[in-house]
Amino acid sequence: MSIKQIVSRDSQALPRADVPGKRHLFNQHNLAAYRQGMEQSLQLVSHRLAAVSQPFSGVLPQELAPAFAGIDLEQPAADQAAVLAELATLYLDDAVYFHHPRYLAHLNCPVLLPSLMAELILSAFNSSLDTWDQSAGGTLIEQKLIDWTLGHLGLGADADGVFTSGGTQSNLMALLLARDSYYARRGHSVQHAGLPADAGRLRILCSSASHFSVQKSAALLGLGYEAVISVPCDARQCMDMAALQAELARCQAAGLLPLAVVATAGTTDFGSIDPLPDIAAQCRQHDIWLHVDAAYGGALLLSPTRRHWLHGIEFADSVTVDYHKSFFQPVSCSAFFARERRHFTHLTWHADYLNPLSAAQEGTPNLVNKSIQTTRRFDALKLWLTLRSMGGAEIGAMFDRVIELAQQGYAMLRAEPWLQFAAAPQLSTLVLRFAPAAALGDDALLDAANVYIRKAIFRSGEAVIAATKLGGRQYLKFTLLNPETTLADLAAVAALIRHHGEAYLAEHAAPCARSA
Ligand SMILES: *Cc1c(COP(=O)(O)O)cnc(C)c1O
Repeated sequence: MSIKQIVSRDSQALPRADVPGKRHLFNQHNLAAYRQGMEQSLQLVSHRLAAVSQPFSGVLPQELAPAFAGIDLEQPAADQAAVLAELATLYLDDAVYFHHPRYLAHLNCPVLLPSLMAELILSAFNSSLDTWDQSAGGTLIEQKLIDWTLGHLGLGADADGVFTSGGTQSNLMALLLARDSYYARRGHSVQHAGLPADAGRLRILCSSASHFSVQKSAALLGLGYEAVISVPCDARQCMDMAALQAELARCQAAGLLPLAVVATAGTTDFGSIDPLPDIAAQCRQHDIWLHVDAAYGGALLLSPTRRHWLHGIEFADSVTVDYHKSFFQPVSCSAFFARERRHFTHLTWHADYLNPLSAAQEGTPNLVNKSIQTTRRFDALKLWLTLRSMGGAEIGAMFDRVIELAQQGYAMLRAEPWLQFAAAPQLSTLVLRFAPAAALGDDALLDAANVYIRKAIFRSGEAVIAATKLGGRQYLKFTLLNPETTLADLAAVAALIRHHGEAYLAEHAAPCARSA
């Protein structure tokens, strides 16, 4: 049988009318359905947005879970409207709304409109940024954003980077490259031969306020949590330089091998920025890899007034920047940068089917050569449309605004006798605790009261705040990333803290304290 005969028979055997999923595929035949689905979704989102009056409903898991028990995933709903109506009750009625000005909990930001246009476009065409042959221009868009950020970082002409799923992955990459280049300089390839016998003596130094992904990375890299030395902080929650020097001397005396120092430019809990130039000088002196975790503080790169807070970042061997925090991008959108692009070869694997060595030799840009992911979202498009629509300076001004709000909020609230602050704010985070004079001295009671306050506020849904511990004591945390949050919002949330705190003390304080 000729190919021609087979083709004509086959088109009878598999007529297009019977293609499974035909009505649901994204292609030119379904444009009307595509537009209709998008418009219905858009209506759902905009109606919801208009109706949201507080950041959360306050629902408890055990209240919401039963609604899921009745859903049979093998039985589709009657029509598109029913699908979306169901989603509204299962998800949107009780979602946590980051765009709300009284959402003050974690490092979640309200997102910018151009980034949402990008989400629509990038998921429609579904490019995968691992190789040129799955993305073409998408690869060039990502690379241009990497080069743009590198220009702001000032890492020099040999630097390179790649988009990642988040700061956690970026920090893992930093320590992986630090580890493998450490051994490469000593003539050993970890990539080929695995960890050598002395790897148990490797140490990573970071401040006690650094992100837990440092510990997680150490474990994933075969070094273990014990490889991480937690360097004490000063009262502002910045790495204490005398303590760093002492730890480095202790390593030397004990025959340990300091691999990297992780400096944080904006700690997750306090927004504190480690003294980057001083740490860089220590690293240079001891020939240690310097990683700067700027997951939070990265947008200072664009700040019209506070760029100098990142002074010293240009000395880093590698840097983490989370665009999905202070650049107001939807999750995920993040990147990792290294001063010397050759270090990326420690994680390059040439697969014949995907990114053969011959492609690299021909100069085809395959970003998978720099990534620990293979299939990878075109997250770069969000930042691209954002910059092309509004420019970088306005993002910097937005970040400045929330930093100023934190300073003003601190000035307003520090006078309140029933509040104690952990420290003055540095970026846009306020760490405070309900501590009225009548209960001072009873730390256990105050700890319990502050735990209660956070839960009670979450249950009411009127605001969402976070919590953390400092020196063993329970604190509350406001992370400000919404430029539309006002001082009045902060005052209102403080009033909630006082209200719930006093209610708790009225219930639980010892009688003598109550009458005081
Ligand atoms: C948020 C954060 C991370 C982790 O980033 P993800 O994007 O959540 O993975 C790492 N370091 C710091 C300082 C952070 O604030």
